Amino acid sequence: MTGPTIPTTIAVFVDRDGTLNEDHGYVTSPEQLVVFPAVPQALARLNRVGVRVILLTNQSAIGRGFMTVGDFQRIHQKLEDLLSAKDGKLDAVYYCPHHPDEGCDCRKPNIAMIQKAARDFSLDLSLCYVVGDKSTDLEAAHRAGTQGVLVMSSEYSAAAVRACEIGQFPIAHVAESFVQAVDWIEQDLLQRNYHVTRG
Ligand SMILES: [Zn+2]
Repeated sequence: MTGPTIPTTIAVFVDRDGTLNEDHGYVTSPEQLVVFPAVPQALARLNRVGVRVILLTNQSAIGRGFMTVGDFQRIHQKLEDLLSAKDGKLDAVYYCPHHPDEGCDCRKPNIAMIQKAARDFSLDLSLCYVVGDKSTDLEAAHRAGTQGVLVMSSEYSAAAVRACEIGQFPIAHVAESFVQAVDWIEQDLLQRNYHVTRG
């Protein structure tokens, strides 16, 4: 017996620095991009499940003048090469290039990037997930009406646990790593009775 297949309205929004790769403050060149172990394979599992995988990343290093948009694109070419070597892919990348002082509405915890993705891909945000290591990711998840999954893979993760404890936002699940976050999302989709093909 299998349930319905995954609706195309479900996405997993994924943060980059501290979630998929080591967070050194700013990643401003391809050499500084160090992806955590088994992340490409985990991402490929999400692809096989049939959910959209959409990267959302604050890149104020652009607005601060630490790197150019061209640098960012070279970093992403490396990321996508590493992912595709294990059959993983991102369906889309949305980034905020602004300096925090600009007061834009895309920098997380603001949700303009999520809202744009929801329009671009006709998503039902109540069925979507946000995976990230920072309070700003979980706050954005909450504001957008998605399920927030915290990964404990950076020095910022513990602050998000504390912010949850004082009621700033809920967290649907806390995972040690992105790989374990994917494990949980697969289970959660199974519990909703979607037919999940496990790879
Ligand atoms: Zn912005």
